[in-house]
Formats: sequence, C-alpha cells, structure tokens
Amino acid sequence: MNTWKIVYNKFNSEEECLREAICTLGNGYFGTRGAVCENYAGRGHYPGTYIAGVYNTLITNISGRDIYNEDFVNCPNWLKLNFRINRDKWLTRFNTKILLWKVELDLKKGVLSRRVRWQDDKGRITLIESQRIVSMAHPHLGGERYSITPENYNGEITVRSGIDGLIINGGVGRYGQLNSTHLDALSIGTFSDDGIFIQMQTNQSKIEITEALRTLVYKKQKRIYPKFIIRKNAKNKINHEFTLQVKKGEKHTISKLVSVYTSRDHGVADNLLIAQETVNKVRSFDHIYNAHVAKWTALWKKFDVEVKGDDFVQLILRLHTFHLLQSASTYNEDIDAGMTARGLHGEAYRGHIFWDELYIYPFYNLHAPEITRALLMYRYRRLGAAKEYAKQNSYKGAMYPWQSASIGDEQTQVVHLNPLSGKWGDDYSCLQRHVSIAIAYNVWTYYFTTGDRDFLNRFGAEMILEIANFWSSVASFNNKTKRFEIDGVMGPDEYHEKLPDSKKGGLKNNAYTNVMATWVIDKALRIVDSMLSDVDKNAIMLKTGISNKEISLWRKIADKMTVPMDENGIIHQFDGYMDLEDLDWDDYRERYDNIHRMDRILKSEGLSPDDYKLAKQADVLMLFYVLDFKELKHIFNSLGYKMNRNIMKKNFNYYFPRTSHGSTLSLVVHGVVADLLGYHDKSMGYLIEALQSDIYDTQGGTTKEGIHAGVMGSSIDLFLRSFAGLSVSEDKLTLDPNLPESWGKIKFKIRYKNIWFNIEIKKNKLTIIAKPLEELPFHSFSKIQIEVKKSMHYVSPKKKYIISF
Ligand code: BGC
Repeated sequence: MNTWKIVYNKFNSEEECLREAICTLGNGYFGTRGAVCENYAGRGHYPGTYIAGVYNTLITNISGRDIYNEDFVNCPNWLKLNFRINRDKWLTRFNTKILLWKVELDLKKGVLSRRVRWQDDKGRITLIESQRIVSMAHPHLGGERYSITPENYNGEITVRSGIDGLIINGGVGRYGQLNSTHLDALSIGTFSDDGIFIQMQTNQSKIEITEALRTLVYKKQKRIYPKFIIRKNAKNKINHEFTLQVKKGEKHTISKLVSVYTSRDHGVADNLLIAQETVNKVRSFDHIYNAHVAKWTALWKKFDVEVKGDDFVQLILRLHTFHLLQSASTYNEDIDAGMTARGLHGEAYRGHIFWDELYIYPFYNLHAPEITRALLMYRYRRLGAAKEYAKQNSYKGAMYPWQSASIGDEQTQVVHLNPLSGKWGDDYSCLQRHVSIAIAYNVWTYYFTTGDRDFLNRFGAEMILEIANFWSSVASFNNKTKRFEIDGVMGPDEYHEKLPDSKKGGLKNNAYTNVMATWVIDKALRIVDSMLSDVDKNAIMLKTGISNKEISLWRKIADKMTVPMDENGIIHQFDGYMDLEDLDWDDYRERYDNIHRMDRILKSEGLSPDDYKLAKQADVLMLFYVLDFKELKHIFNSLGYKMNRNIMKKNFNYYFPRTSHGSTLSLVVHGVVADLLGYHDKSMGYLIEALQSDIYDTQGGTTKEGIHAGVMGSSIDLFLRSFAGLSVSEDKLTLDPNLPESWGKIKFKIRYKNIWFNIEIKKNKLTIIAKPLEELPFHSFSKIQIEVKKSMHYVSPKKKYIISF
C-alpha cells in the first residue's frame, strides 16, 4: 500500500461529493474542492472554492422570522473545462461510458491527478489525464494541466476553458431554504493573449474577488496558439473556446493557470491588476508545480509522523496532516482569518470558527507555532466584539461568540432544522460559553509550548484577563452552599440545552465549565501577580479597566467554585443530571443503524434529549483531556474536592457508555482518557474510529460538506499522546512510549520552546536529537531536560542520544 496516496479506482456517483471534500486542495489562503472540471454543481458534484475570511450575510424570512446567515462564500469556479468532438455534445460523465476512472491524491506532492477513459455514444474513446495544484509556494496561485488523447479517432475537438461565477452557496442540503446568492458581478473580460478574468463582489460584506485565468495549449510538448473565441454570459461566466485538429494517439495538453485575489489582501490597491500580473508571470504549469512540490517537501520534513507497522494509520495520519496544512498555513500571518471547523473544504457550519481550535492547535504548536499565533490574532482582533457581546448580556470582560465569522459577533442560529423530523426548533447552542475558556486555554498552551512571551505580554495576557473577568461576572455566590456557581450555560455536550421542565435555556454548574473557568481565573491571577512587570501591569489594568476589587473577587472564586460531584466521586455533568432517565441504548442500537445523532432520533420520536442521561460528546471527561492530571488534582484540591486516578476511572466508566459520539471530537477525548487509564485497546479503538471518520464519512453524509479539522488535528495529538506517551507541560517534555506489538517504529519531529526534537521510538529504545531553532551564539541552554519513561535525561544540542527501556 502506498501510504502517501489516496486512490480511487472506480467512479462512484454516490460518493463523489465525499471524494471531492477529501481531494480538496488548498494553501491556507484558498481551497478548491476536488470536483472534476467538466461538471457544474448538481447531480452529485459540487465544485467549490473558498477564500479564508471571505464571508457574506444574507437574510431569509422563514415562517415570519428573519434568519441572518453569515456564509463562507463559494467563490467563482476556476476549474471549468470541457470539450466536444466534431461539434457534437459537450462531454461529461453523464453522456459517456466510463472505461477507466482513477483519481489519486498525492499527499507528498499536494497533487490531485486523474486518469479517465471515456467512450461517447458514437464509440469514440478519449483518454483524459489531469493534474491539479493549489500552490503551497504562492498563496494566490493554482492550476490544472489537462491532456486529451483521442484513442480511436481523428477529428476536431472544441475545448471550453473558463471561470464560472454563476454560482450560489448550495453545498449543504440542510441550508436549502436559505438565501444563497452572495456574489454580484463587477466586471468580466480578457487580458494579454491568453487571459480571461472575473471580478465579483459579495453583496453585503462588499469584498471584491478577482480570478484571473490563463489557458495555455500544447500539442505533444510544444506550445501552440489556437484562436480563442470568448464566450461570456452577462458578467459572471466567461470561457475561452478553441478548436484543435486531433489525430488518433496524439496528445494535446491544456494548462489552466489561475490567480485569486480579494480586496482584503494587504498591500494591494487593485486586485484585478495584481491578479493579472501575478498569473502573467507564470511561465507554465511546471513552473508553479515545481515550486509547489518543493514547498510540500519542506513541510513534510517537519510535519511527517512515520509509523512502521500499520499502513492505514500511517496513511490517514498523513491525510489529516495534509488537510490541516491546507486549511491554515503560515500565509495566515498575512490574512485575518480564523481556524474554521470544516477547513476550506466546504460550506458546513458556514465556515464558522468554534471551539474546535482547542483540538487543532497542539498540532500547529508543535510544528509551526507561527500558524497558531496568526490564528490567535484573529481572536485578539475580535476582543472588542467579545467585550461588546459580554456587555449586551450584562456581563463584564470578554465573552466570545460560540460561532464566529467575519467580525466576531455571534453567528449561532437561534433556530435549528431537524432533518429527521423536518421541524424547526429553538437552538440554545450559543450558550456554550466555554468557547471563551478554549480561547484562554489556547493562548496559554501556545505560550508555554513556544515560550513566546512577546505574544503573551502584548496580546495573550489581555485576552486571558478579560475572559477571567467575564467568568467572575457570570459566577454568583450561593449563600447556602457558600460557593460560587455558574448558571445559564451549556457544556460541550450539546444534547443538553436545559433542564426537562425549564422554560429557559442553559444549565447550572456544568462541571467542565466551572472547573475550567476556575483554571482561567487561576492563570489570570498568575499573570497579574507574577508575570508582568509593574509598568506592563499598570498599562494592562488601565487599558482593560479591571480593578483591584475585581481581582480580589477572582481570588475568592478561585477558592470556592462549585464542582457538582457526589460521594462516590462521580462528577455530575451539571446540576440535575443525575435525576434524568437512563436511555435504553440497546433498543436504539437495534432500531437504528447509526445512533451518533441521538438528539435527532429522540426528537423525531417526539422525545427530548434533555430528559435523558446521554451525551453527544465528552463533557465531564474533557477535564482529563485538557488538563494535565497533576494540575487538575491541584484545582480540585484547592477547591476542596477530591481527585485521584480512581475518580478519573469511575468517571470514564460512567460516562463512556452514555455517550453517542455525535461529534467526532468525542472519539479523541475518549481515546486520550482511555489511554491515561491504561485501557490501551480501547484507546486504539477510538484512534482507529477517529482516523476512519472523514475518509469513510462514518457520520453518514457530513464529510462531503467539509472535513472535520478538529478530529484531524486531535487524532494526530491522540496518536502522539498514546504511542509516544508525549505530554507537553510548562517546564518539560515527557515521553512514555508504548508501541503496539506489531509496530516496528514511529518517528516524528516536534518543536518545543524553539528547539526541534527529532524522535524515533522502537519497542525498547528511543533515539532523540535536540536542535535549537536559532543559532544564537549566546543561546542560553547547555543541556535540555526531557523525561523518558519516568526518569529525567539531560541532552546536549545536536547530539544523538539513545535511551533504552
Ligand atoms: C460539535 C461542536 C463543534 C461543532 C463544530 C458540533 O457538532 O458538537 O463541539 O464545535 O460541531 O465542529
């Protein structure tokens, strides 16, 4: 098995949209789905191009209600290319017989290639070979090379190569009732001898989008210059059309080169001009191809995780790495865009940004933390919006929205369509205030993994302090219990929106939220007490307006937050959880093939998930996932609660049979906690499920709408945590390897506090080389400490160490 390639050997119309999502190419700036170039959207195909940060809001009136939707805009389709023979029908897979169909996604090179042999209704057989890239070396460039070889005929082939702006956002069936035309045409035309362009504008956010395309034609290897006829439709569709005289066995190649710019780009006065200039400078497809492949080679040198012994694990770890590198990249340093939950791969969740970052950033932190920093800056720029949101809800500090898009206001829907029952219902999911916890957590983990004090001082500290202040304003003191409480929130488990009889949304004392709000407050106290110089502290206090009185309240909350927990050590997901009914899981498993989305199933049966002890995804168990056990124990103990490994075990055993894994994020959390408890087989099971989730679309129809970046990032994290026993804490790296019997070795690189560690793990030995990133003559360390199998080792830079165990 080639562990660098995803190969599709057969055409399957049912799975084509899924394949398109899996075969999406991108570079952090833009992404283009792996759709074939001959077809428009519809009948099992959905070409889509998405540019990071390009959103547009439309209003739709549904049942008397105005629904606002900020969508991730589907931008003009630059792939469009098809041909016809002797002026007969334009050929597509719909009117030909497919004799051969092979699509290959080469992860190593970032190339999507296709080899198709078609027979039309007159028996003419044509071989099509294509390669496509979205350049990793130049964020604005992409291209497709498309060869046509007539195999049993001579004649005339007419080719149409163009850009299609006559498109809508139509990638997600569930959003079908909503308005979806986001683009207005601005201008359309030609440039140079071989170029055409489209310039469009989003109709509410007024972002100009330009795509400039050149079509280069070759006979065998030699460039030829057929006469182009321009076919255009009003202002949103343009094609180059040209005719070739073809002979049996003779190959003609068409190279499409595209450049994509928007009015959001920095340093660009005229995006139309720059788009044309950029693509005009490209000499050929090979020109951008070579630079692109070289860039991928450099990326893989840092990011690849090698596994000897399990080809499936190897291949999918690479697939996940590949898509994460395409969804956000160092180009994000120059664009204002956040980490979307579904990549640049589709329209699900409208390209919004959720708490999924928490699952993804460890991946970037350990390899290219510049990417995390760039993405955290998206949040920093929206700190003002988060403060405004808190204020509107009568809170202090910063309350980030559950779903964020262009300006950082709340984008969560207030009504939600259940596809099983076809009914709209209230949606309380914006009460997942824990998203702000995730942001503070991401700032802190980025900081200690990199040691980037500059970021913490200038941006991170302010975010953490404002978020801590928010939580302290949400917490209220209960005079009876003499403890602080948090009411009106939802935990990560979205199935529980309120107590069964309650009229208002939200729950009291969600354990995850309470403990993590305390954690944020602890970190904020540490920052103000000991991490800022007097002048910096003064500056930040004056800027945020946080008073000493508020800080003394933080101290009280950090001492006396409620954690709902019983004498048996079971942490209650929220107050009232234990009064809910148990569900007959076996019955549901028998009646439904897939019970991941138990909420939809229950609602379609007229029942409410609020009434049952069930969870969509890990909630209580999140605590063991995000915090190092020692730190968790410390928080519990200082709040006056017990915490030990037995309690972790009891909670795992209590919650895992009550969780339906309606979110793929859940698999990874369970995998990590199972591993911590020594349930290695279970953990391996969850890893495999997490790795299968997108490639096989195990959620049944969601991946075609965009990959799940959260599970992609965290499956790599789970892999490193369970097999390398990797744990990254403030003061050290820890490795506690544990390879499955059948694996020969694993090998990877990680970057911790500006030192690269090259690590190879075999059954009983570990090889490590530490290389500082910067060759400063005054680099301060001489020995680096690292814990392997519970004993400390001190390694000198650039020397190879072999540690046996
Ligand atoms: C999950 C959330 C997640 C969102 C976006 C939902 O299905 O329950 O936790 O943030 O998807 O990925």
